[in-house]
Amino acid sequence: MEKFLKQLPQLAKDKYNENKKYLAKLKKKPPKDLDYRMRELHEEEFAETDCLQCANCCKTTGPLFTNADIERISRHFKLKPQQFINQYLKLDEDSDHVLQELPCVFLGYDNYCSIYEVRPKACREYPHTDRKKFYQINKLTLKNTAICPAAYNIVEKMKSNIKL
Ligand code: SF4
Ligand code: SF4
Repeated sequence: MEKFLKQLPQLAKDKYNENKKYLAKLKKKPPKDLDYRMRELHEEEFAETDCLQCANCCKTTGPLFTNADIERISRHFKLKPQQFINQYLKLDEDSDHVLQELPCVFLGYDNYCSIYEVRPKACREYPHTDRKKFYQINKLTLKNTAICPAAYNIVEKMKSNIKL
């Protein structure tokens, strides 16, 4: 995994134009069963990819924290939402709440998330490869192929399995 993670930014860069073209085509004419096929590809990939060997998303890109996330996680720490914000979060250029620092402060040395049960929705859903209407997040997917080995592999498999 470590070797793959090192190579991933370059691999994603090499495939960028090809992937962009493919995803644009997918958006134009998505197959009727796309949601079902994405779920299959996602499940297949995550049966093989162990996030505990990776944690690259937690190390290199943080989640957005919604108000519901902030309320839930503050309750977990018995903090007021504003105290939690002051301690851990900042506003990004789009005025969204994000982590003050990366790697994520809640990530353990063993790659376990210390707030797993109450983690942000964005963490639960990352890399969004099993979401409905996958073609709606093409820009994000292109970005994720350079961060997440599973997202990279899924897009590779899409190109050979979902012919457009
Ligand atoms: S909250 Fe947990 S899952 Fe989310 S980035 Fe931090 S360590 Fe990773
Ligand atoms: S979701 Fe992707 S980047 Fe995050 S830990 Fe799992 S394989 Fe790694």
